[in-house]
Amino acid sequence: MKIAFYNTKPYDQRYFNQVNLTHGHDIHYISAHLNLETAKLIQDEEVVCAFINDKLDADVLTTLKNQGVRLIALRSAGFNHVDLSAAKTLGLPVVRVPTYSPYAVAEHAAGLLLCLNRKIHRAFNRVREGDFSLHNLMGFDLHGKTVGVIGTGKIGQCFINIMVGFGCRVLAYDVCVDEECQEKGVEYVSLESLFAQSSIISLHCPLNDATQHLINHESLELMQDGVTIINTSRGKLIDTKAIIKALKQGKVGLLGLDVYEEEEALFFEDFSDSVIQDDQLSRLLTFPNVIVTSHQAFFTEEAMQKIAQVTLTNITDFAQQGLIRNEVTL
Ligand code: NAD
Repeated sequence: MKIAFYNTKPYDQRYFNQVNLTHGHDIHYISAHLNLETAKLIQDEEVVCAFINDKLDADVLTTLKNQGVRLIALRSAGFNHVDLSAAKTLGLPVVRVPTYSPYAVAEHAAGLLLCLNRKIHRAFNRVREGDFSLHNLMGFDLHGKTVGVIGTGKIGQCFINIMVGFGCRVLAYDVCVDEECQEKGVEYVSLESLFAQSSIISLHCPLNDATQHLINHESLELMQDGVTIINTSRGKLIDTKAIIKALKQGKVGLLGLDVYEEEEALFFEDFSDSVIQDDQLSRLLTFPNVIVTSHQAFFTEEAMQKIAQVTLTNITDFAQQGLIRNEVTL
């Protein structure tokens, strides 16, 4: 099938070209993000392949449909950037990669936690300057700490396994209780209780109406002073204004973010030669106890390989059998 592949990076091309040798699709790589203007670049492609910072609102989907697009193939697990009810009304199926490497994201969350706690980011710079002192580099043992995990799906469970391996006590909150987690000793508690008891909190739930700004002024009030918060899930789970205030007050002691509320305008691109206009992000970057990475938690060889394989198989199944595999439904 002819595929319009938006938001292409060289690493996408490398993995998709390799996997496409066994699928034989005609992929038209487009570097631009998908939006109302770039949706008009469609010529005779029947499939649009999009990533998380592409915009798939009702207007864009209608434009794509009118240009002859028959399938939206997301090369991501997350789908909060797609207006699913508009897609349904238009009869435009949306498929995704439901799982590629939960290990990749969970390991990155653990990496942020270790780096922040043991101040490896600061030690790295300090030693390079010839400063071998240890002042302000003291961390704490993870062993014996209480870790609160919000969302015990695929990634949350991998993260729990890592934390259990470190000898942590794990509390969890999810709308569905997982028995396997309970068998590992994980204790499901209310959100309020998780906030109150955990010295480390890691977010692994999806972004939806119930979870938007889950971390806000009120929930931060319930947390322990100096709490560590790790977010590798979605930026809008955290109210950025509230977390900046909590960092300034010392309520939040360590903050690791792989995602950020307003990341669409910046993440995945090189702005090293520009003035960053986002004052909230700029403020976050000034804290010594905050690490921000640019939505890279998924970015491992294994994950990229699986993303290309599943995306192209979704498209091949649609082309050959009319099958809509891994469909995202409302
Ligand atoms: P999953 O569907 O396997 O698990 C999500 C869990 O969250 C489920 O157990 C679900 O019941 C739970 N949940 C749903 N609503 C909830 C609520 N209101 N409160 C608490 N829990 C709730 O998904 P996953 O593969 O583990 O991915 C989790 C999230 O990680 C995704 O939604 C995505 O936003 C994010 N993600 C980030 C990256 C990255 O590179 N940073 C990559 C992939 C996924």
